[in-house]
Amino acid sequence: MGTGSGRVIDLRSDTVTLPTEEMREAMRTAPLGDDVFGEDPTVNRLEEMAAAKVGKEAALLVPSGTMGNQVALLTHTRRGDEVILEANAHIVHYESGAPAVLSGVMLRALPGERGLLAPEQIEAAVRTPNIHTPPTTLICLENTHNRGGGSVYPLATLQAIAAGARARGIPVHLDGARIFNAAVASGVPASAIAACADSVMFCLTKGLAAPVGSLLCGPAEFIARARRFRRMVGGAMRQAGVVAAAGIVALEKMVDRLEVDHANAHRLAAGLARIPGLLLDPGRVQTNIVIFRLAPPGSAAALVRAVAAEAVRALAIAPDAVRMVTHKDVEAADMDVAVAAVGRHLGAGGPA
Ligand SMILES: *Cc1c(COP(=O)(O)O)cnc(C)c1O
Repeated sequence: MGTGSGRVIDLRSDTVTLPTEEMREAMRTAPLGDDVFGEDPTVNRLEEMAAAKVGKEAALLVPSGTMGNQVALLTHTRRGDEVILEANAHIVHYESGAPAVLSGVMLRALPGERGLLAPEQIEAAVRTPNIHTPPTTLICLENTHNRGGGSVYPLATLQAIAAGARARGIPVHLDGARIFNAAVASGVPASAIAACADSVMFCLTKGLAAPVGSLLCGPAEFIARARRFRRMVGGAMRQAGVVAAAGIVALEKMVDRLEVDHANAHRLAAGLARIPGLLLDPGRVQTNIVIFRLAPPGSAAALVRAVAAEAVRALAIAPDAVRMVTHKDVEAADMDVAVAAVGRHLGAGGPA
């Protein structure tokens, strides 16, 4: 139904992207070895490429972005420390409580503006050393910000946060799951964004469409320590070159095309914003994530069910909020199909 072709327009996440033929071929032919012995040439090549791409000394391949963030926390902090981050951060919402279980840290979650923190907010939250208080030993930022609707930190804001953190000797970890979306949308190189953080994690599996893998990047000494924590949480892999091969294609071929995803997100947002009962400022859509709210008594779950019946998939992220994410496996015309499906559900009519 809906598309007339039987094809599903899956806008739940950019993680649904399937690997390209070139990735599959690279996976089939990659030179392999035992990466726990440091002997997988394809993993070593991907780690070198990744580090260079974000301007860090070294990188570590991990199975998921969650593991990358958690290994970063384990490496930067000690039990009882306090980590400053934004209240809607992925680390707070979607990592199964791992900071409490694995690192044993306190999370100091500050309310941001579409997920973005202001330098003064962070400055005010940093603890002064005192036996009563948990020491602030890490600041985590997220760019682009997932629950913030794909928002991008202005470079000047990141630089101000970095300068403040450096002055106090507190490291910054960047959850850059979608750092290349931020780079492409803002025209700022990923290395300049990452220069505002000591460590950065990015995902190969979002818009870059690789099947598995994220990279934790930072100083060589930090990555050497992180390597032990990756082992500890079970993330040390053997012939991981099979997945690294797809990651190399992702970094070489899939970054520049993210601008297509952003253009499609703008088209989607412009169409959705015209539907009565739907709350969305299309001017705020910066990358590939579109989050809209429903005027009362609208139900996100009911909307998601209704459009699914028309082969359009979206995600309810709150009782009144829906997320749609663009990626390489959807195209411009699909945006109009999705808008029409939402419009029909909300009773706006619109051409079938
Ligand atoms: C997707 C994502 C991650 C990592 O997710 P995994 O599913 O563990 O790979 C981390 N941070 C953000 C902001 C994300 O969107």
